[in-house]
Amino acid sequence: MDLKIFDRMESEVRGYVRSFPVVFDQARGSLLFDEAGKQYIDFFSGAGTLNYGHNNPVLKRRLLDYLGTDGVVHGLDMATSAKKYFLETFERVLLKPRGWKYTLQFTGPTGTNAVEAALKLARQVKGRQNIISFTHGFHGVSAGSLAATANSKFRQAAGMALGNTTFVPYDGYMGPDVDTAAYLERLLDDPSSGLDRPAAVIVETVQGEGGVNVATWRWLRQLETLCRRHDMLLIVDDIQVGCGRTGSFFSFEQAGIQPDIVTLSKSLSGFGLPMSLVMFKPELDIWKPGAHSGTFRGNNLAFVTAAQALDSYWTSDAFATETRRKEELVRNWLENLAYSYPAAGLSVRGRGLIQGLVTPAEGGLANRIAAKAFEYGVVIETSGAHDEVLKVLPALTIEDQLLERGLEVLERSTAEILGSQGNGKVLKFGGQRR
Ligand code: PLP
Repeated sequence: MDLKIFDRMESEVRGYVRSFPVVFDQARGSLLFDEAGKQYIDFFSGAGTLNYGHNNPVLKRRLLDYLGTDGVVHGLDMATSAKKYFLETFERVLLKPRGWKYTLQFTGPTGTNAVEAALKLARQVKGRQNIISFTHGFHGVSAGSLAATANSKFRQAAGMALGNTTFVPYDGYMGPDVDTAAYLERLLDDPSSGLDRPAAVIVETVQGEGGVNVATWRWLRQLETLCRRHDMLLIVDDIQVGCGRTGSFFSFEQAGIQPDIVTLSKSLSGFGLPMSLVMFKPELDIWKPGAHSGTFRGNNLAFVTAAQALDSYWTSDAFATETRRKEELVRNWLENLAYSYPAAGLSVRGRGLIQGLVTPAEGGLANRIAAKAFEYGVVIETSGAHDEVLKVLPALTIEDQLLERGLEVLERSTAEILGSQGNGKVLKFGGQRR
């Protein structure tokens, strides 16, 4: 396929086109089509942006109707009917049923814009600079967010010192027997630990880019308790695993915690349109009018599809229940796959429809499986410090049949890459297969 124009004109910084070197032309539901008409099952979902699939017909209809009546497209942060309906819907569908009170701030359109605002607000509220962030955490690549992002590849690209952040071990980082929340507690309790008093802790409940590392509910509750005891704000960055990905709209709900600040983006608009927001407890709203600005705060087209997504998928439990059913299916499939290759050292971790097939850190196995799967028509990315985790991230709306076909491709790709290492039990799929 002819990619010459991209090579000639686009910066070396481009990334995903290298993993998926075709020109994508159309997309529908969980399928992508390249210019040659080849079909791909999407197990990547725009890194968590397409929870409701590509060109979701209900959202598209709403968007086309809105454009057809000359609804306002750009309005800075002025009041518009689209924004009004989004706010009403967010309150009615998400906040009221949970008995929550949060103030919303619309930031620039991409995830890192929300994180920047959240960190700024936390620092202002507490009058302190330091932020606690976690090993393998990813929060974006603009300066403030990047300072809280652990990955050295991104940090090195900053070209300046990244400070005012202290990294501590995420849940499970030191192995199953070390309680990393207790470690943080020790640092906080000890005035001579060297830890500057933090304004906030920023955490992902499942680290999407960091390798599908899953924090236990218990650990998240410990973290909340620590925040309360030490007068720090708890920021949950729900940009990748929020909006239903883990089987509830907010990924932290089952932990029973109530973060002070939550960042949302990616699948928030539901349609792949850029949109970000920060939710925070009303008493934290110390912003002066206009103190945090931006031309594209509040994308009206995104308000329209976001409100429709909430109305279509989140007024009952049915969608979340479906996600958890599909989680079982994926999980069983991957566990059986891992079991089939005992010598390969594979394992599975994840929550909801973000599931990782973990391969050994060395050897590039996950990348080789992903490349093979792409050849066979599945788009899937790897994550983790060594790109060692195959991240299965289908749309939440994916049909079972496509989900199983995609998993079959993964299985076949793994089998081809691992060759004779299997124990011959690859077809033992615990009744999950039809
Ligand atoms: N936070 C998390 C948890 C993310 O996964 C990402 C992106 O992957 C971001 C922030 C940054 O979002 P964006 O790439 O839209 O700036």
